[in-house]
Amino acid sequence: MERQVVQRAKEAFLSGRTRPLEFRLQQLYALKRMITEKETEISTAVKQDINRSQYDTPLVELIGIENEISLAIEKLAEWAAPRPVEKNLLTISDEAYIQPEPLGVVLIIGAWNYPWALNLLPLVGAIAAGNAAVVKPSELSEYSSLLLRALLPRYLDKDLYPVVTGGVSETQELLRIKFDHIFYTGSSTVGKLVMEAAARNLTPVTLELGGKSPCYIDKNCEIRVACRRITWGKFINCGQTCIAPDYILCEPCIQGRVVECIRQTLLEFYGADPKCSPDYGRIINQRHFNRVMGLMEGYTPVVGGQSDASQCYIAPTVLKDVPPHSRLMQEEIFGPLLPIVTVSDMDDAIRFINEREKPLALYIFCSDKKASKHMIAETSSGGVTVNDIMMHYTLCSLPFGGVGQSGMGRYHGKHTFDQLSHHKSCLVRSLGMESVNLARYPPQDRRRARRARMALKSPLIDMSKRTLVWAVVATIIGCGLLITLLVILLMAAGLNCTCWYWRGFYN
Ligand code: NAD
Repeated sequence: MERQVVQRAKEAFLSGRTRPLEFRLQQLYALKRMITEKETEISTAVKQDINRSQYDTPLVELIGIENEISLAIEKLAEWAAPRPVEKNLLTISDEAYIQPEPLGVVLIIGAWNYPWALNLLPLVGAIAAGNAAVVKPSELSEYSSLLLRALLPRYLDKDLYPVVTGGVSETQELLRIKFDHIFYTGSSTVGKLVMEAAARNLTPVTLELGGKSPCYIDKNCEIRVACRRITWGKFINCGQTCIAPDYILCEPCIQGRVVECIRQTLLEFYGADPKCSPDYGRIINQRHFNRVMGLMEGYTPVVGGQSDASQCYIAPTVLKDVPPHSRLMQEEIFGPLLPIVTVSDMDDAIRFINEREKPLALYIFCSDKKASKHMIAETSSGGVTVNDIMMHYTLCSLPFGGVGQSGMGRYHGKHTFDQLSHHKSCLVRSLGMESVNLARYPPQDRRRARRARMALKSPLIDMSKRTLVWAVVATIIGCGLLITLLVILLMAAGLNCTCWYWRGFYN
């Protein structure tokens, strides 16, 4: 079944109908219409999947998708246009440019925690770049997956953008098929399997993985505000966000204050019993519930800790003085547990981060800009937000993606278009001016070789419009100055002649 779906997508791609920009625009408009018209159904499906508040889904998923579609619609002509590049002396009179072209059929494998954004954001880029795309949403977010499968063919070209539902075996079957790109979002463990399968066909991959994203709180920052932002970013979606702060690093002297501020914020956000709050979510399933509960074993939380297996409910939980080598600090938590690990200062925090795998995100709360920049420079992570949580994700001019164990490749906005395009190098020469080329042909001698070396070593010349405009402006100013100088000289010469004349007259 999967093979037939992919074959249809391939044939539809080869028909060439994704090539014209008008077609891509029409599909993007239709996708946007789907989000607008089906907002309520989509939010209800996510509510059924992870009990996320009806108000949150538009805020954390749908508006972002709509923004990205609007941006792609507005910028498509610019993104898809040839991109001129600098030239050297040898190619000065030629046309040299990068031509983005579609890759073919892209496989998009999404995770369950943001089931709409994680499938549709790559799809926006795939459509804009002129690809066909097979979308495989996660079986764990069942309601969303089924709704996506029902909706997408009603709005988009059925053959070009099919949805395949199912679990591990269906995904494995898809991975046996040759695609032109695989865009995977999920755990690092499955990410390795995806990359292995892709390697067999030399298929390029984008891997959007997870990891433990640290959050450093400096003792001199506004701790109350910092804790409100951290509490929001950690406990939204019940802690099941790839860029949620996984743990806090702070000095022992502020640990108590941090705990108290988070406790107060939780009360403010979710009331005395978060289980009754319509704004607090649930763990996706029993397996993940047991996994997260297992991480807490042996610890006494200072905040929260309550749970209800029948509802997959785990209260927002804070644990202090967590030893760096504990199990809680070994694997990504991906749930509502927030451990605090104490460090002696910022440099100790930097050392702590650098001793571990490179995280997807790093958060720094610090009122000293210089110190924040120092921490950014001394650590490596997919992205950073200073004095807030997750906000770098929302700015689609910034590339989003991991580094090292947290993933490879990047997307959002133009970066998705570029990620899912082949950047073809194009050099268009003429058959004229053959004398310029003679130096590189045999038979070679010392003089020819020297000339060829000189030509090959010539630096790149910026021939962009801006540079050309500047060159014209500079020439005009230069000519103007030259003419002025000439006039002055002539006038001076004229004055001299006059002086000579009058001197002669009086003499
Ligand atoms: P998941 O279990 O839904 O798996 C993701 C996809 O992989 C699904 O479509 C699933 O069908 C497929 N899959 C699962 N097991 C497979 C196997 N053995 N072989 C082939 N395919 C398989 O999601 P998950 O992995 O539990 O997602 C959570 C992880 O994803 C976390 O680590 C989180 O940090 C990460 N994540 C990363 C991002 C990001 O943007 N970087 C976003 C969301 C989630």
